[in-house]
Amino acid sequence: MSATTEPTSPHVMNTYGRLPIALSHGQGCRVWDTQGKAYLDGLGGIAVNTLGHNHPELVPALQDQLAKLIHSSNYYHVPGQEALAAKLVELSGMTNAFFCCTGLEANEAALKLARKFGHDKGIEKPQIVVYEHAFHGRSIATLSATGNPKIQAGFGPLVEGFIRVPLNDMAALQSATEGNPNVVAVLFETIQGEGGIHPMRADYLQAVRALCDANDWLMMIDEIQTGIGRTGKWFAHQWAGIVPDVMSLAKGLGSGMPVGAVLAGPRAAELFKPGNHGTTFGGNPLAMRAGTETLRIMEKDALLKNAADVGAHLKSALQAAFEGVAGVKEVRGQGLMLGIELDRPAGAILTRACEAGLLLSVTADSVIRLVPPLILTTAEADEIVAILAPIVKAF
Ligand code: PLP
Repeated sequence: MSATTEPTSPHVMNTYGRLPIALSHGQGCRVWDTQGKAYLDGLGGIAVNTLGHNHPELVPALQDQLAKLIHSSNYYHVPGQEALAAKLVELSGMTNAFFCCTGLEANEAALKLARKFGHDKGIEKPQIVVYEHAFHGRSIATLSATGNPKIQAGFGPLVEGFIRVPLNDMAALQSATEGNPNVVAVLFETIQGEGGIHPMRADYLQAVRALCDANDWLMMIDEIQTGIGRTGKWFAHQWAGIVPDVMSLAKGLGSGMPVGAVLAGPRAAELFKPGNHGTTFGGNPLAMRAGTETLRIMEKDALLKNAADVGAHLKSALQAAFEGVAGVKEVRGQGLMLGIELDRPAGAILTRACEAGLLLSVTADSVIRLVPPLILTTAEADEIVAILAPIVKAF
């Protein structure tokens, strides 16, 4: 078995390197392929399947909603949006939500908010600070904000108005923005996901918050991968005790249903006026039910604590397993967002783990990424280590 860039169908556009398996069904943290082979799910659909698969409370709730109303329109009031927005506001300390379907859409909305913030202040060419190795999506604007020349190649001209700085380097941020009246916002991931599980330090985040306040910039956090409990708090930046002005969410919010949101605090919540922004599917009743149920079940089953506890257990078990192992540089991350960095490209680990019955991903070429469902048990965490350790040691 190996991941292939050969087309899997004459009709599906060939945009992914895919493993030669197709999943047919799942239960909890397990999935089965169409040949009946079972896998432990260390990937959760890339940090999406918060509640695992076939959840006994989520599925009936969605079935109930399916039979009532799947989609109406943003021409009308959507009570589900009001309920989910109220819950997200309570959890985040923000004030308002706009709903969409994907991460890049949430970030597009954030970028538009930042530009509108600038224009409303009379800044005609607003600039937004972004980071090296960041990932914010693959639309033309979010691709431009992304800090990965490989995935930008072939799609120029990119959108202008971004200033790029290195992670965790306050002097670099200050010198890149010093005396520049056009800066309106800073956009970042609290832990870079696609960039290779690189956390921002709490003291750096606090200093960025202070710099944003001093200069009247919006602090915009992309919590698309880190949010919805993945690190053991609702949103990863909460570990640093800060509150952003704008936050983008997607992935885990719908536990598999495509639900995205941009949340805004008082400085940004009223920038969009009717007609400034919109989307056909965003915030439809089925998506909103998925979001509300996901958060309700997470609270009821204490999944933040589970992500923190099982994540800490998994991290220390991985650290113990790879202590002194040649080729393993570092095990890092927080909660159930962990990376194991090797000293060379790790793509082949993906296929070997898949053959051995474990799903995971490799990001930034050399980082094995684990972002399993937040219902993962300690026994399943141990099973991940038992499958993965011999593969990495023999690599
Ligand atoms: N932002 C971050 C931090 C992400 O990890 C991703 C996806 O991996 C995105 C944005 C883009 O989300 P989507 O693929 O839903 O557009």
